[in-house]
Amino acid sequence: MEPYFFAAVGDVHGCMNRMNDLLAGWCKATGNTLAFVLQVGDFEAHRHEQDLATMAAPAKYRTLGDFKDYVSGYRQFLQPTYFIGGNHEPYGYLDTMPSGGELIDNCHYFGRAAVKKIKGQKIAGLSGIYVEDIYTSHRAPLERMSSTSNKAYIGFTENEVLQLLEAEPVDILLLHDWPKNIIHPEDKAMFQGRRRAIDISSIGNEPARILVDLLKPKLVLCGHMHFRYQRTIPHLSGGSTSLFCLADIRQEFKALAFFRVDEEGGISEVSTRR
Ligand SMILES: [Zn+2]
Repeated sequence: MEPYFFAAVGDVHGCMNRMNDLLAGWCKATGNTLAFVLQVGDFEAHRHEQDLATMAAPAKYRTLGDFKDYVSGYRQFLQPTYFIGGNHEPYGYLDTMPSGGELIDNCHYFGRAAVKKIKGQKIAGLSGIYVEDIYTSHRAPLERMSSTSNKAYIGFTENEVLQLLEAEPVDILLLHDWPKNIIHPEDKAMFQGRRRAIDISSIGNEPARILVDLLKPKLVLCGHMHFRYQRTIPHLSGGSTSLFCLADIRQEFKALAFFRVDEEGGISEVSTRR
């Protein structure tokens, strides 16, 4: 296969215009094209107020965002864009397609737990975050949405994690929240001494870590924390995983990562800056 480029994007929170402008800017500056875009959740594809009403979020974060302009055809996604669900999503809409689907031209929801082959790469995606009650029992069915809290829809289940484990091995893993215990001891200072220090022991979840350890992807992409962090995780069996935790789109290039896929399917990061 001919080499190609793809991009990864952190939390978008309805700012699809900013996302697409930044991606178009990179293409223009580098002269490259993007074969596809992977987005790690909190995308917020609200078509209208009824979708927005099904999102779990405090009132001040409840805004319609840019997606409606793509639904109306005023704006377009210029390359195939695939997103998983985060904890702030219109699940009343997304859960009508639990296995994912194309919402509008070039904009694909990955589904609750799915594996897709895109341009030769086997990609697994898990929507939602770890919520103990939902994980160990079940998630509320869509039919109960009008009488249940929106928060009853933000978690993934153990069955969904097991379903993804059957896909072993995969090339790329998409997660919203971070896997547990991924911060290198030497990097701890990065998370302290900030205006809002982050307690490292509270970061990430165990099921996501199990997915990383057992699926052994070449690349893991996640978001949620609105904080950029990168490291390589070695596997006991040999080989390693490149982990990219992406910031949110308001932090512009900290939210983005660009990759080149070579003739053999190997993935390497290319500069985000022009
Ligand atoms: Zn977010």
